[in-house]
Amino acid sequence: MNILVLNCGSSSLKYQVIEICSEKILAKGICDRINLGDSFFIQKTFDNREIKKELKIKNHEQAIDLIIKYLLDKDYGVLNKIEEINAIGHRVLHGGSYFDKPVLIDDRVKIVIKDCFVLGPLHNPNNLAGIEACEKLFSSNIKQVAVFDTAFHQTMQRKVFSYALPYELCKKKSIRRYGFHGTSHEYIANRTCKILNNNNLKIISCHLGNGSSICAIEKLKCIDTTMGMTPIEGLPMGTRCGDIDPGILFFLAKKENMNLDEIDNILNKSSGMLGISGISSDFRDLENEAKKNNKRAKLALEIFCYRTAKYIGAYTVCLGGIDVIVFTAGVGENSTTTRKKICEYLDFAGVKINQEKNNLRGKEVMFSTDESTVKLLVIPTNEELMIARKTKMIINNLRK
Ligand code: ADP
Repeated sequence: MNILVLNCGSSSLKYQVIEICSEKILAKGICDRINLGDSFFIQKTFDNREIKKELKIKNHEQAIDLIIKYLLDKDYGVLNKIEEINAIGHRVLHGGSYFDKPVLIDDRVKIVIKDCFVLGPLHNPNNLAGIEACEKLFSSNIKQVAVFDTAFHQTMQRKVFSYALPYELCKKKSIRRYGFHGTSHEYIANRTCKILNNNNLKIISCHLGNGSSICAIEKLKCIDTTMGMTPIEGLPMGTRCGDIDPGILFFLAKKENMNLDEIDNILNKSSGMLGISGISSDFRDLENEAKKNNKRAKLALEIFCYRTAKYIGAYTVCLGGIDVIVFTAGVGENSTTTRKKICEYLDFAGVKINQEKNNLRGKEVMFSTDESTVKLLVIPTNEELMIARKTKMIINNLRK
């Protein structure tokens, strides 16, 4: 069974075709800078054929049309006919409180995704555009499944997901913590339990990338996570500020005369690592600058590691103990110095790293010593595979 996995972002569309029985990636690619004039398209296949094109892509429908064309291409494709795609799995950012698992997409589901536009204004409209484009471009028999980034976190208790704001207001306007990166944290939880052959673990999953979040997991269920109603809450990120005093917003509005768009822009686009360092949101740039003793690059990295360790401490309390800390995503998988600095904060609790193993990048590895009180793992995340697996599960259930 071949599953097309689509991740329709605001200006990019990433995709993979996965043969789900063997879990082999047949092809993967990206349409980037959609509707920005200088779009480009890249596709790579399992046998290392690669095509790159610079062209104008106006919208998600055109992007998906292009993807189909190159999946079927004689020289660069992997399929003979479009019917060889058996189902489509979509990454959908926000499912509100409606969805705690993936669902087969029908008109009702589309209405709910639309209802959640206000909760995920940058993502949900594009996710829906991708779904509707597939309805046009594929046969009407094809099944489409929505896999929500928020679904895994729906097991959080009320005391965890509630803000200390007026109760009725929150209820009426669906103001609560939802959490994101759920598909990644779920993949990490499953993989960790498989590696350690134990489903009852207390896991702290650190998804550290351009966007970052931490999730406290017990017995494969989410107990708490750092992102909230929107993906700004929690850790400082590439360009997002993470937790701040909301009083700062009033200060900026009242004392600096900033309007909402300007404040939004600061919080989402010019804060975090970029804002602190004034150099870059990219950890590689910051690490290079820190080596040259750039004070602000060093400060950005220090703040990131401190705040990550602080949440790990808090989540140890939330879980009533801890068995494993897992690092994933671009920074978690590759930045050996970030992992080291975070773990050093936990040295007092007997968390010990094996330096040699910690020097590996982008690979599955246990990098704690045998004496360490907590196991430390790196697991490369694989959201696309998780979406494909869930799509297969829904399709197989339909057949029963
Ligand atoms: P996104 O949230 O966009 O999916 P990623 O998970 O791809 O982001 O993470 C991107 C981040 O990972 C960037 O800040 C990048 O600098 C960092 N990164 C990637 N490779 C390395 C590396 N070798 N060392 C340090 N940081 C790295």
